[in-house]
Amino acid sequence: MNTHKTLIVGNWKMHFTIGESSMFIRKLEEQLKIPSSVEVVVAPTTLALQSVSLQLKHHRKFKLAAQNCFWRDFGAYTGEVSAHMLRGLTQYVIIGHSERRHAFGEIDKDIRLKVQAVVRNQMQPILCVGETAQERADGDTGFTLHDQVTAGLANITSEEMHRIVIAYEPVWAIGTGENAKTTDVAAAMKLIRKQVKDLFGKQASLDLRLLYGGSVDGANATQYLALPDVDGLLVGGASLKPEVFGDIIASAKS
Ligand code: PEP
Repeated sequence: MNTHKTLIVGNWKMHFTIGESSMFIRKLEEQLKIPSSVEVVVAPTTLALQSVSLQLKHHRKFKLAAQNCFWRDFGAYTGEVSAHMLRGLTQYVIIGHSERRHAFGEIDKDIRLKVQAVVRNQMQPILCVGETAQERADGDTGFTLHDQVTAGLANITSEEMHRIVIAYEPVWAIGTGENAKTTDVAAAMKLIRKQVKDLFGKQASLDLRLLYGGSVDGANATQYLALPDVDGLLVGGASLKPEVFGDIIASAKS
């Protein structure tokens, strides 16, 4: 759909200490072959971003993402890390992951402000959207995606849209081994791209990178990457296994 490299993002979630993250990066560096047509991003714990960033500086084989951030730049917000603090450390920030929405009660307003904060601080948000099992069963997938995309991008201008990545991640498919049918993914992606076109114009919809996420592994990655509207993958569990992550990256080449 666009001329970007295929984007493969590994979300490590709350796995690996600082030392383990560093060792895992070394392992990935040794094992992974990254084709020139593929951009690989890893999202370690916030604590390890500084050390991993220094570790990667020499060759920049991967880019980095944070898994979350707060939207105010600074202030009395105990325990939070702002987008402003991540600036210069990561290129991407995952925003609105279903675990943030469902386990930490993030609502559309938080997500909208976070997307805006990431863009304001010159990074790229990976805005996660996706329906729950109940919404799917009720036939409401389209409405859910429409609402989440509209709300998440409400503070963004057409000129800023080139920074936006959207990950379609059906909630019921995350970490369950129950990955979505390609026909359903194709329909959801088409809908999201059309919505972006309606909101921001044709160029924004062409520039937009759309990722699929939800129980992606070495065996099923190819089928999603073959879909016309899919520009890459957001990978959770499988990104913690270097061989499997390597297989997914290899699939992205073809
Ligand atoms: C995720 O964390 O975004 C994800 C898609 O996880 P998994 O690949 O394990 O389903």
